[in-house]
Amino acid sequence: MRSLNMVEEKRYDIVIVGGGPGGLCAGLYCARARRKVVCLEKYLPGGQIAITGEVEDYPGFEHIQGAELAMKFAEHAKKFGLEIRMEEVAEVYVDGEDRVARCESGNVYRAGAIILSTGGSPVKMNVPGEQEYSGKGVSYCAICDGSFFKDQVIAVVGGGDAAVEEGTFLTKFASKVYIIHRRDQLRAQKIIQQRAFDNPKIEFIWDTVVESINGDGNRVTDLTLKNVKTDKKSTLKAGAVFPYLGFRPNSDITREELKKDQEGHIITDSRMETSIKGIFACGDVRSQLVRQVTNAVGDGTTAAVAAEKYLEELEYRRKTT
Ligand code: NAP
Repeated sequence: MRSLNMVEEKRYDIVIVGGGPGGLCAGLYCARARRKVVCLEKYLPGGQIAITGEVEDYPGFEHIQGAELAMKFAEHAKKFGLEIRMEEVAEVYVDGEDRVARCESGNVYRAGAIILSTGGSPVKMNVPGEQEYSGKGVSYCAICDGSFFKDQVIAVVGGGDAAVEEGTFLTKFASKVYIIHRRDQLRAQKIIQQRAFDNPKIEFIWDTVVESINGDGNRVTDLTLKNVKTDKKSTLKAGAVFPYLGFRPNSDITREELKKDQEGHIITDSRMETSIKGIFACGDVRSQLVRQVTNAVGDGTTAAVAAEKYLEELEYRRKTT
């Protein structure tokens, strides 16, 4: 009898690792170029955008839920022939002219070109209680977990777009949202800041960091805070804490070393090609100034067209030598 867990080795023209906006857009363009293309995604397609409340800066959509936009990206690409498979890629490597993605499942995907669209993972606060209360009041996804804290006090940490936007989203459920920021100025876009300043349920706690997340063993009850200017400590009663301290790029995936910037983002040329020929990168994992859905899809488009050209040259060389 054949084992149900049989390991597969599959061949595609192009393999895309990661199904965020960049990866899905790359998939759309590869599929439209009539390439056999698969997108490997460990969760559901959409990446960060799938767990974002409302998106209002994607042209053509004044307001759209992140999950709906993600679904639209995926459905659109699938209609043109993109295959999406739920796989966690363990490693990408070069094998002669093949670019290979080996998955945790044991499955191996071979292709002429690979596009990395692996995004990033939330930066942890690394304070006592963060790990212990993860899933018991500590959450990195307001849209997934916000509704569990109806009529409770919620703390949000950070001063970037995500902290302020998701803090505002959490006021739908919370009795009060405290946004704790280590400086006295926000990094978030002005329009996002203004909306939070105008929201009566939001209060900012400036120049302050979280020293520990405390609880009764089952759930978060309060936070110990420290004012970084005065060193004064205080206690904030809160039922939940959502840290939004930014993202670390998921760029440690290739066996061969890739050129990266200081923060670990992958450096590409203007064709989105990395320092390894035939391996391209797009979206948040790539070194660039802006991390928005709009430029992720732009990157994805360029990566797909460049990968297609790379394959054409490879095929031409094979034919003529
Ligand atoms: P971010 O812009 O990097 O902001 C991270 C925030 O966390 C900063 O305010 C930073 O403080 C603070 N921080 C970092 N480490 C900290 C620590 N150890 N302790 C306390 N505070 C700490 O990250 P993000 O808000 O997650 O956004 C990531 C990218 O996605 C950005 O490019 C952003 O523009 C984009 N994004 C866009 C939207 C949108 O357009 N609607 C929504 C979400 C995200 P400092 O300010 O002092 O450095």
